[in-house]
Amino acid sequence: MLEPADYRSPMRTCLLTIAMTLLSASSSAQSLPDSLIAPYTAEQCPRCATWNTPHPPFRIFGNSWYVGTHGLGALLITSPEGHVLIDGGLPDTAPLILASITALGFDIRDVRLILNSHPHYDHAGGIAALQHASGARVAASVPSARVLATGKADASDPQYGLAYDIPAVTYSRLIEDGKPTAIGPLRLTPHVTGGHTPGGTTWTWQSCEGERCLDLVYADSQTPVSADGFRFSDGATYPNAVADFRGAHALLETMACDILITPHPEASQLWERVASGTLVDPEACARYAANARRNLERRLERETATLGVPTGERPR
Ligand SMILES: [Zn+2]
Repeated sequence: MLEPADYRSPMRTCLLTIAMTLLSASSSAQSLPDSLIAPYTAEQCPRCATWNTPHPPFRIFGNSWYVGTHGLGALLITSPEGHVLIDGGLPDTAPLILASITALGFDIRDVRLILNSHPHYDHAGGIAALQHASGARVAASVPSARVLATGKADASDPQYGLAYDIPAVTYSRLIEDGKPTAIGPLRLTPHVTGGHTPGGTTWTWQSCEGERCLDLVYADSQTPVSADGFRFSDGATYPNAVADFRGAHALLETMACDILITPHPEASQLWERVASGTLVDPEACARYAANARRNLERRLERETATLGVPTGERPR
């Protein structure tokens, strides 16, 4: 294994960038079936190329590693008895995640479990390819598992009609809200924090460096974004949307949270924290929740004020 990459080590970051570039063009990346990593066109997804800007992998804390891109979060939590991967980005993010895992000195075949925040194309599109490469099982909430298994968005998704199909995954485990899922010594707890999608999931766990253990939170997206015509307030296709959001906000506001990471890193100012030299911010989850609550209230006010909903919003 290479010397661990730390977000505070620019030289190692530079070397890893070079290694990743070489690895992503190597045989390991090419072994992913083209059908599972086919990109969406720029016309379908104008923001995908920017989201997919490669980023060198780095250690978040202890056995938790960032293996996503600049715009799409993906985390690797490692143990001698197998690893857990959370989120797979877009279909064509999978080779980048694979290269990041390899650049850190880990083996994709040691990933035994893949988890998901929510099954939109920009966070679950790459899971099928990564499952193919690793042989890992995928675990998800009931609503998320349905989308992952079919590759088709569910009619209850506020972005139904906008969210693109994804390569279907073979899931083999359903999660239960609040019940930890384990791989070897790893324990990750799912918290169903829907609203953005019906089964959206926040994951929490502890990582340690020596005696120092921190609470890590991969908090799901909390943006009240929808397809045209969907109203969070009328409950036609997703009756619990507002209640789910409010429950998620309350939970995020109070949970133990030393380091927050989000499916879109910029939503929790990850890169500002990286630049500042510390990712630890025990207030980050509470701030994330407060911001999400404000956005939901604004959205509901707009829905009350007009019969329509804002147009032109893109899925994320
Ligand atoms: Zn989304």
